[in-house]
Amino acid sequence: MKDKRILLEDLDRQSSQCTRCVLCRGRHNVVFGVGNPDAEVMFIGEGPGEQEDLKGEPFVGKAGILLDKMLTAVDLDRHKNVYIANIVKCRPPQNRDPQPEEQEVCIAWLRRQFAVIRPKIIVCLGRIAAARIIKPDIRIKKEHGTIIKKGGVLMMPVLHPAALLRNPSDKPGAFEDFLRLQKLIIENCDHTYDEETLHILKNS
Ligand code: SF4
Repeated sequence: MKDKRILLEDLDRQSSQCTRCVLCRGRHNVVFGVGNPDAEVMFIGEGPGEQEDLKGEPFVGKAGILLDKMLTAVDLDRHKNVYIANIVKCRPPQNRDPQPEEQEVCIAWLRRQFAVIRPKIIVCLGRIAAARIIKPDIRIKKEHGTIIKKGGVLMMPVLHPAALLRNPSDKPGAFEDFLRLQKLIIENCDHTYDEETLHILKNS
């Protein structure tokens, strides 16, 4: 079997030509994903915003900076031990929600990313991703931080970092979810944390 990195690069190249839905019309870049192809933890958002569209990388605007801070707080890093992608790979105009039919078409790319990476844990960033991946009627304000197992994969919905920027009073609860995620990683993952970090975390 080809190396995961090569498989993802192939998919990235293919998706960069995708015109399967109307979102291709206004894009600067197809925002495929970023991270370690061998990640055990995958974060899924809903779709690229303006900065992401311009730079071709998910979560690089203000919400992305907050996400990176939250990842750092639990010893995660987008370039080291997680993978980040979105439900739709092209920016919806004026940052509107991706339409169900757009999600339906584009999720084929995400399925192919899952098939290569095969994460043990999926973290859904916000309602749209959680509704698509975990359950359609999710109430994100109430159910964030809960853990479910689906298809052999552990899944957790969390509040979207953009929502946290709008409602800073929700940040402590969101941070608790990340601490719960860290515990889940310690219990279920083999190589997300290096041995030294794992030792420190287990004894703290
Ligand atoms: S959003 Fe997805 S399906 Fe639509 S054009 Fe972009 S890559 Fe293709």
